[in-house]
Amino acid sequence: MDHAPTLTDRLSPSEGVFIGGQWLAGNDGTFDVENPADKSIVGVVANADLVQATQAVDAAALAASAWQDVSPRGRSDVLMRTFRLMLDHADELATLISQENGKAAADARAEVTYAAEFFRWYAEEAVRAGGDYGSSPAGGVRTVVTHRPVGVAALVTPWNFPAAMATRKIAPALAAGCTVVVKPARETPLTALAIARLLEQAGLPAGVVNVVPTLRSADVVQTWLEDSRVRKLSFTGSTEVGRVLLAQASRRVLNASMELGGNAPFIVTSDADLDAAVDGAMTAKFRGGGQACTAANRFYVHESVAFEFVARMADRVSALVVGPASEPASQIGPMISGRAVAATHDLIDDALDRGARRAAVAELPSHLSGHYLAPTLLADVPPDARVVQEEIFGPVAPVVTWRTEDDLLRMVNGTELGLAAYLYSSDLKRAMQLAEKVEAGMVGINRGLVSDPSAPFGGLKQSGLGREGAREGLAEYQETQYFSVDWSD
Ligand code: NAD
Repeated sequence: MDHAPTLTDRLSPSEGVFIGGQWLAGNDGTFDVENPADKSIVGVVANADLVQATQAVDAAALAASAWQDVSPRGRSDVLMRTFRLMLDHADELATLISQENGKAAADARAEVTYAAEFFRWYAEEAVRAGGDYGSSPAGGVRTVVTHRPVGVAALVTPWNFPAAMATRKIAPALAAGCTVVVKPARETPLTALAIARLLEQAGLPAGVVNVVPTLRSADVVQTWLEDSRVRKLSFTGSTEVGRVLLAQASRRVLNASMELGGNAPFIVTSDADLDAAVDGAMTAKFRGGGQACTAANRFYVHESVAFEFVARMADRVSALVVGPASEPASQIGPMISGRAVAATHDLIDDALDRGARRAAVAELPSHLSGHYLAPTLLADVPPDARVVQEEIFGPVAPVVTWRTEDDLLRMVNGTELGLAAYLYSSDLKRAMQLAEKVEAGMVGINRGLVSDPSAPFGGLKQSGLGREGAREGLAEYQETQYFSVDWSD
């Protein structure tokens, strides 16, 4: 090696499972991590088995009381140091994210900043864990309310934001005084392991964070949920898997937070600023190649402006540069897998069969060898097309037109999912009136981005339970306890 060792260099196969401050070989050998941009192998990672799953809980349980006893300022300092280390290593982390997830360089860089901000936010929250004090109506009895860490938390994260979905859980858990076991997605374990390296460097005591990469996701998580020392599950992923895990968690009445799938409507009213709406649409749809739970999934554009909106958006979609993050001009990377590409083609075909038309398709350079799908704008899409009804999770934008607000709201709310929504209107009063009727946990108004560490991220209906970020994100890792005291004479 003729350069200073980087985070990536240090992630050798023999040190892939991080338990109790030790980097261990996987009991089940190793597995490859593929770059979806060219199908090359970007890393070989230790594959943990169920014995190691339990050892991770052993370590987290052992570290729990000492970590809980660290002063809030002490915990805060570790989080703040990790925030700074993430920024110091931002280029390396962004490269790692792009290599294992495929997202464009600018998207990966933005993810690192977003992910790091959770450490800063919860470093600040860690020292502000307040309580309450009251007295009973009859007098005499005082109630002193406090918050205690919920206990060992099992954190399960998806591949689409390998850094941010991990830090959005780890940072509040640590701030609250919990210790954790983390299972990253098999597609993207390297970023989670790199973050563990940085936590270690920031002085985090052994066993407070344990990271368990594995091909046996279901078995490892089940092992955790059945372990009486685990008191919390925080899951981000599909609604389908979330339902299975909620059922498993119910057996031990586990505290569960669920960040699940989305099907975000993007509403354009007749009085919207169309340039702003198209800008917002491009961000809301194509960030991370459309593989975001908050991605705009269905565009509802008022019939009076639909022609113009589609024409302007078509220009932008046709001009998108598709390619690997290693090519600086690339704006849209590959999808995560060949299966995801095929499933998305099925959605496009279904819409075309039902009478939709391709209004724009970006160019797919012929030299690309990864899992690519050309960004596509579909117009005249019938509201019942699968591409509107299902979470696309890819770079396809279907446009549906609407006439009355009643019809609009029926379409917008006619789904079991309710994560994000977007709304463009030049009349803020009208926008707020409409937004209050939209069944989504987050509504971007004249904005194509809703994620913010200081805001309570989460969904309504089957998009989830609980919130991440903001003050609410800390409460997910706390239990309320009160002392009922009578110190009257
Ligand atoms: P997924 O549900 O397939 O996997 C998520 C995680 O669960 C991974 O770590 C995976 O290995 C693990 N897993 C899979 N099956 C499991 C099982 N049976 N038991 C235990 N663990 C299991 O989701 P994905 O494909 O990685 O991510 C995409 C989905 O995540 C989309 O639906 C997206 O909307 C959702 N998502 C939601 C949010 C949010 O904050 N609401 C954020 C990002 C992604």
